Amino acid sequence: MSELAIRNLSKSFGGVRAVDDVSFKVGQGEFLALIGPNGAGKSTCFNMINGQLAPDRGDISFAGATLVGLKPREIWRRGVGRTFQVAATFGSMSVIENVQMALISHARETYKLFGPAAARHRERALALLEQVGMIAAADRPSRELSYGDVKRVELAIALANDPRLLLMDEPTAGLAPRERNDLIALVKRLVIERGISVLFTEHSMDVVFAFADRIIVLARGKLIADGDARTIRDDPRVREVYFGTGKTFASQAATP
Ligand code: ADP
Ligand code: MG
Repeated sequence: MSELAIRNLSKSFGGVRAVDDVSFKVGQGEFLALIGPNGAGKSTCFNMINGQLAPDRGDISFAGATLVGLKPREIWRRGVGRTFQVAATFGSMSVIENVQMALISHARETYKLFGPAAARHRERALALLEQVGMIAAADRPSRELSYGDVKRVELAIALANDPRLLLMDEPTAGLAPRERNDLIALVKRLVIERGISVLFTEHSMDVVFAFADRIIVLARGKLIADGDARTIRDDPRVREVYFGTGKTFASQAATP
């Protein structure tokens, strides 16, 4: 079972307890939002899960085996993918070449643009571009894409690695509200088809409440709430953290 289990995870920077004794699970196929004000510890959590940061304490296990101590590449090989991490060479290649490169790398083949491996993966790359709505741009230089279209290609690249769990730290950063909604809707549709679990952060409460199966809330490194949209919306501690007491989420606009 491809379940992520975080137990008593802690990380401090100097005197700052960035993540403080946090425990939660991401179930197989679950679409889970991790929210909280700036500085709450969300990115620190992501960076420990993907192996970029070592926890001070606690355990992270995926599909029953610990990830703590593994290198980012080894974690990725176990099926924990992440968006949106574009290669430095992204702009210099066409859209489809970027997806082909990801497919080749996933198959552990050597990348040559005009080699047999690239040709072999062209069909699959086209299928992925079709699914993210970018097939018409397949042979365009990636550097010409709009920011929103880059996000779609990045999603195709992440899926090319065939993850079982996708980590998305602020996937919609820099997008307009409508584009945020569309990108998360697209991600959700594609991961449901594949049975991929997702852990994501998102600033727009509208998007979080519309799409997340479950929501967990961090504040100053502590997990303060864990539940479905209604539970989180009505939770007094969550309201306090976001607004001071009294207000509701209904009146909140998206904050970038
Ligand atoms: P979020 O992603 O929720 O905005 P972060 O995980 O980035 O929060 O940060 C949590 C806390 O840890 C903040 O107080 C931040 O300043 C601190 N922090 C994060 N990364 C570092 C670092 N590399 N060095 C020192 N302090 C850090
Ligand atoms: Mg962050």
